[in-house]
Amino acid sequence: MTVDIEQHCIDKGMRMTEQRRVIARVLTEADDHPDVEEVYRRSTAVDSRISIATVYRTVRLFEEAGILERHDFRDGRARYEQVREEHHDHLINVENGEVMEFHDLEIEALQRKVAERLGFKLIDHRMELYGVPVSSDD
Ligand SMILES: [Zn+2]
Repeated sequence: MTVDIEQHCIDKGMRMTEQRRVIARVLTEADDHPDVEEVYRRSTAVDSRISIATVYRTVRLFEEAGILERHDFRDGRARYEQVREEHHDHLINVENGEVMEFHDLEIEALQRKVAERLGFKLIDHRMELYGVPVSSDD
């Protein structure tokens, strides 16, 4: 279930300018993990007056408010996605940078077990798998 970012901001008492609304909408509609440049490209397609600085500031604001999650997929750019209730992990195709999402119950359970073994109760984790596609003639 995805909550509208704009609504989320309003609920948090954030002042929503026209430009912030556009950026919020772009991020709500994103089903990938765009970086700031990409968010900027999509935002200026709606409103050409939006500057890259505004996108940077707004994304940071949303991140600080816990609305956006920042990822580092090792390609030197921070990527963003809306925080969702359901947890998922990522697999990054290092050949083309494509990011796939997955959720694996066995891995989740295993991570809890490892934390327990070390005397901890797991409250969060991040996992990124980096791979290359296996070609059919390998
Ligand atoms: Zn994701």
